[in-house]
Amino acid sequence: MTTWSTLAVLHWSEPCKDYGAVLDGLAVLYNSTEELRCWKAEAVPVDRFQIMDDLGDHDDTERVKRLRSALRRNELVPPLVLVHGLTPDRGNYSLLDGCHRFNAAHQEGTERLPAWVAHIDCCGGPPPDMDDPELAEG
Ligand SMILES: [Zn+2]
Repeated sequence: MTTWSTLAVLHWSEPCKDYGAVLDGLAVLYNSTEELRCWKAEAVPVDRFQIMDDLGDHDDTERVKRLRSALRRNELVPPLVLVHGLTPDRGNYSLLDGCHRFNAAHQEGTERLPAWVAHIDCCGGPPPDMDDPELAEG
């Protein structure tokens, strides 16, 4: 039996670092709000698709370095925020938050990371809630 959650509930139980940015991405790219019951906590494979090619920025490099040592000590890192769905050259997930964690895990050879995954109109998940005509009218 699948229990769906909302992003609001997940954020309350385990605060996400850039929640504002995640909400923006969800609204702009997926027409969905934090109230859509499409979320599941999963352990996702660390694949090459979300890897930042160019970690040119010094801060980025430092952040990844800190996360790598956290992973090595088996410390809990905040969950990634992903949207499930096949995209032509990006694999099975789109990343809304956590690219530094993803890079660190990749460099450490970690196989899976905890993530919040949205199934919007896939895997039995609901359609985008901002498409609802009643909401659109108001
Ligand atoms: Zn899905």
